[in-house]
Amino acid sequence: MPEFLEQDLHPTFSPFTSPTDYENKSSGIHIHPHNFLLHNQISFAENHRDSGAKAVYTDGSKKDEGTGTAYCILENYGIIASWPGKLDHSNSVFKAEILAIKMAIEAASSLHRPIKIWTDNLSNLMAILNPKSHHSMVREIQTFLLSHKHIHLRWLKTHVGYLGNECADQLAKEAITKGDPFFLPKPLSYLKYEIRSAVLSIWQDNWENGDTGRSTHDIVPRVSNKPVGWNREELMFVTGHGPFPSYLRRFNLRTNDNCSCGEKGDPMHYATKCRFTLSWHFQTPTVSLKLQRLKNILTNNLSRTRLRLLMRFICDENILILEDNN
Ligand SMILES: [Zn+2]
Repeated sequence: MPEFLEQDLHPTFSPFTSPTDYENKSSGIHIHPHNFLLHNQISFAENHRDSGAKAVYTDGSKKDEGTGTAYCILENYGIIASWPGKLDHSNSVFKAEILAIKMAIEAASSLHRPIKIWTDNLSNLMAILNPKSHHSMVREIQTFLLSHKHIHLRWLKTHVGYLGNECADQLAKEAITKGDPFFLPKPLSYLKYEIRSAVLSIWQDNWENGDTGRSTHDIVPRVSNKPVGWNREELMFVTGHGPFPSYLRRFNLRTNDNCSCGEKGDPMHYATKCRFTLSWHFQTPTVSLKLQRLKNILTNNLSRTRLRLLMRFICDENILILEDNN
């Protein structure tokens, strides 16, 4: 029975995948400061040049379709190995580039000779030099580098025609569509985003198919966390919850919903027709224009002021809602 109930309550709510799909949050330091000697292996200052020597290049790329990551190993001005990885769109360029560096380091670990890995992303190298970084991949890279002293990370300037950098850039762009699918745990912020979207979707569904608040629904069909910014009088007018015969009738506070003038006493009547509120009238809308007209009133400052005065008048004048017992 509980399963049924849950389904019943959340028709558009698909269950989230397991906790292992999301990143663990790391905090504190995981390597003793005394042993954190990465400055020996990471440099921003070395000038790059295309020498033909064996070197690794990494890059990441993000577009609407997804995120791509790649490294390539160059020797004698040719690619001797490469890896393009395809990530889903929830991954940032930062993560794509960090992953490229991680994969490049793993590939370089088997070389047993000094090797340089070049990246054009400064913030990646800064993160790797940060002993307090929260990123689990950054932490893995730090540990791996310290046990593989022959691997060096270097920064190079992007888009100045360095062969390896251009190759890695091109591979990462192509990886978005053609790369090997690679799964990375999603950030917790993405889980929050997914939950928020699911909740809004349930709310929207209920709002569209509900029985109450229909006059408000006509004007505000989309649900949102942002307040609509209506004041008390405007809320009364839009919702119809105010000193209107139509409203009082619903709660049996009146036997009929007529205004003292004899017509149905709903908000639109007072705003466009009633002879007692003549000086606050808005132009009579045709049925098809009624909604647009209402929206216009609520987005125009002059109209809003007039509406406020009208509502105050209705609140103050009992004559409009007094029931004529004769
Ligand atoms: Zn009237």
